[in-house]
Amino acid sequence: MALSDRIRESARMLRTILLKLSASQSLARWVTSNPRARRMVRRFVAGETLDEAIVAARACNQAYRLVSLDYLGEHVSTVADAQRARDAYLAIFDRIAQEKIDANVSCKLTHLGLDVSVEFCEGLVYSIVERAATRGNFLRVDMEGSVYTQRTIELVKRVRARCPAVGVVVQAYLYRGEQDVRDLLAYGCRIRLCKGAYNEPAQVAYPRKRDVDASYVRLMQLLLASGIYHGIATHDPHMIAETIRFAAARRLPKDQFEFQMLYGIRTDLQRALVRDGYRLRTYIPYGQEWFPYLMRRIAERPANLAFFIRQLLLLSDR
Ligand SMILES: Cc1cc2nc3c(=O)[nH]c(=O)nc-3n(C[C@H](O)[C@H](O)[C@H](O)COP(=O)(O)OP(=O)(O)OC[C@H]3O[C@@H](n4cnc5c(N)ncnc54)[C@H](O)[C@@H]3O)c2cc1C
Repeated sequence: MALSDRIRESARMLRTILLKLSASQSLARWVTSNPRARRMVRRFVAGETLDEAIVAARACNQAYRLVSLDYLGEHVSTVADAQRARDAYLAIFDRIAQEKIDANVSCKLTHLGLDVSVEFCEGLVYSIVERAATRGNFLRVDMEGSVYTQRTIELVKRVRARCPAVGVVVQAYLYRGEQDVRDLLAYGCRIRLCKGAYNEPAQVAYPRKRDVDASYVRLMQLLLASGIYHGIATHDPHMIAETIRFAAARRLPKDQFEFQMLYGIRTDLQRALVRDGYRLRTYIPYGQEWFPYLMRRIAERPANLAFFIRQLLLLSDR
């Protein structure tokens, strides 16, 4: 095996291990109770409270960036926990309106009881979307691992048929991505396109980066040609350049779509796109349940793991 193939294979194995560890409750307890780790996670997470997220959102708005607030949490297993998450989401929409912040909200269905039952989860999501509509706002349903894809898309379609203030995410690494985009576009649904952040087998997702990137470009073109307002979520300069090229070739005005990036990642690129007149939304996660989110960000870029380990060692020397 050539050296470059061996490096790629090692990176893939590391990513798989990190994503498996992201589900470990005991590791989560250990890491989240560590004061040094809590300080370091602030690179990717705005804080543990809504107040802290609002401060970060206001700073983004002042820099002409739109925001999506994400109250972290996933895989709740009780009705009471899911209802608590619903209450928190209702309060976020009220607070956004009260503070006059230019932000929508992102959520995960397993935070809202998808593992309890689809019907129960749908009821909670509908109440949140109704509140979003009352506030003139919008709820984006994140996409989780592929075992949830079908249920998520069906649920969003049903809720959207009753109240259109909701959109969903399509992951370009899934083979089914194009079929999902065409299906959702037929319903007029707003889509966020991302590459995909979970540990998926080759039976459902492209294993090679170049195939994921090619799929991303194909799906981006379908979205931009649809006449519906979508979110192009990536930090990849090649994907961004392809999007800009395609939009310019079709003379699509810059306010007919938006780029989206994560809090703390490629802030330089976020500023540059705003400077160039594009709409840019920063996804701001906050809350105490930050461990799985952090592990996905580390898995995306092994250099982040080296950074975290180095910081932990440096801080423990002091
Ligand atoms: C707004 C937003 C919402 C998202 N929502 C979802 C979702 O609902 N479901 C889902 O599965 N995934 C979601 N993702 C994550 C996404 O699927 C990718 O895992 C992630 O964005 C990395 O892919 P990339 O497009 O940036 O390209 P990559 O090819 O992975 O990265 C391109 C470049 O971006 C930079 N970069 C990327 N990730 C990191 C990082 N963690 N730390 C530092 N630099 C980094 C690096 O410079 C890298 O070279 C979301 C991403 C964004 C931006």
